[in-house]
Amino acid sequence: MKEKPSWGIHWFRRDLRLPNNRGLLANLKRTHGRTVGLFCFDSKFLSRPDFSHRRFAFFIDTLKDLRSEMKRHGGELLVLDMQPKLAFAHLIKSSEKQGLPLVTFCRDYEPFARDRDQAVTEELKKLGVDVRSERDHLLFEPHTILKDDGSAYQKYSAFSRAWMKKLESIEGQKRIARQKQSADYLNRAKARSTFKLSWKEVLDGESKKYEDQLDHFDRENRKHFDGETPAAGIRAAYQQLEEFRPRLKDYLEDRSIPATSGSSEFSKFLKNGSLTLPQVVYEYKLAHEKTDNYESSRAKFLKELIWREYYYYILFHSPRVEHEAFDKKFAKLDWNTSRADFEKWKEGRTGVPIVDAGMRELNETGWINNRVRIIVATYLTKDLRINWQWGEEYFMNQLIDGDLAANNGNWQWVASTGSENQPYFRVMNVWRQSERFDPNGEYIRKWIPELEGCETKALHDEEADRSGFKYPPPLTNHKQAREEAIAIFKRARR
Ligand SMILES: Cc1cc2nc3c(=O)[nH]c(=O)nc-3n(C[C@H](O)[C@H](O)[C@H](O)COP(=O)(O)OP(=O)(O)OC[C@H]3O[C@@H](n4cnc5c(N)ncnc54)[C@H](O)[C@@H]3O)c2cc1C
Repeated sequence: MKEKPSWGIHWFRRDLRLPNNRGLLANLKRTHGRTVGLFCFDSKFLSRPDFSHRRFAFFIDTLKDLRSEMKRHGGELLVLDMQPKLAFAHLIKSSEKQGLPLVTFCRDYEPFARDRDQAVTEELKKLGVDVRSERDHLLFEPHTILKDDGSAYQKYSAFSRAWMKKLESIEGQKRIARQKQSADYLNRAKARSTFKLSWKEVLDGESKKYEDQLDHFDRENRKHFDGETPAAGIRAAYQQLEEFRPRLKDYLEDRSIPATSGSSEFSKFLKNGSLTLPQVVYEYKLAHEKTDNYESSRAKFLKELIWREYYYYILFHSPRVEHEAFDKKFAKLDWNTSRADFEKWKEGRTGVPIVDAGMRELNETGWINNRVRIIVATYLTKDLRINWQWGEEYFMNQLIDGDLAANNGNWQWVASTGSENQPYFRVMNVWRQSERFDPNGEYIRKWIPELEGCETKALHDEEADRSGFKYPPPLTNHKQAREEAIAIFKRARR
């Protein structure tokens, strides 16, 4: 029989919090608090084309917060610049005197992460290490929601019905109730000494070999991005939970209006694990909410959270979507490949005020609301007919909440190539969207100061003469662009 590990390593990845971290808790429980934390920056990940220095700055701040929270509870987080497989091999060798550790981590569902986790797990098992993984940021993992014949759902509506059924089940309700622990976490005035082991003790005389790299990464990243990022970490996330609480009742009306902050702005916290979806459901008492009430802000909010789980589900069951259209009919479309048009879109110089305002806000802050994301993505893929993958990558380079599953799924939705779509023949008119969601032109004027003195009506009118302002004429004609967009889809269907 294997010896019970007397100490453990919790490998943090995107679960950057202490409360209700199932992997970490499992480790602490089995080792009676003799657990240390590890984070590895993986050069492969940092060199991805969809990398963002802004998002990375926010991530580093979240890690710093995690480190200070661990310290407050008597623990230590070691941050290395090493591929995890290699890091574990070295650390295990250097800590031989302690015996083999228990290694825990929280599961992730992106193709890159799944491959990495499998490789690390196999390697650790070869060394005789006890490795355990736990569910974390999804309420229901993708392999647990299947049709009766064992296949995966394709459409959001069917998936969402199955998801709701699970939420209503005893197990679903229990999962939500357990989130009380997180809610209580910050209410405890004094930190308890939860962790009872230091890296120095583990590594004995070899600790100098493992110089912590967090500050180094911070300094290097600041050379590329020195702008502001929102407050990060667990306290900032909880503050946002409180801040949005009274605004939830107006979500249905306000969420799409870019001139107000009508949505929760939780996405950046969900991305790094400062918040989790189960916790949000617990905090807002959504566990008994029904999603079929179209008039209710609370129902709408829950539905949006389910979209998040849905896109992880799609990515898990069809990992190919990371590189291609979900709908194979539309794998190859006759896209416009003009780099000049793409640059104008990126820079917010298309001559369509609502699109340019959105792109300028995105470039400046790393965040735009869902409606504006839909508008700028529609303009790129339908009016300019530029490949959604170009836009997808650009969003990832800019967004502070950039997330492969949600970003890919939503781009494919807008581009009509996805599992659940905006139908290709129903091309949204961005001028009408502009009128509807920014009726007073407040948002447009904020981000396009050149149009400060422009009449509101003219901000939303494709035909209006805006030549008196230092602002370009529209790059496209919507009616014509719409016909051409439909035509390229029809040609692909043949
Ligand atoms: C082209 C495009 C690209 C997008 N890229 C991303 C991305 O990279 N990362 C990301 O998290 N979201 C993305 N979204 C989805 C959505 O726009 C954001 O989640 C939302 O705007 C974040 O703001 P919020 O937290 O205030 O959302 P709220 O409206 O308050 O919603 C609460 C939470 O529900 C989830 N959610 C809401 N809408 C969606 C949706 N349509 N799809 C999936 N989850 C949703 C998010 O986790 C969000 O934080 C994208 C949408 C579009 C149209």
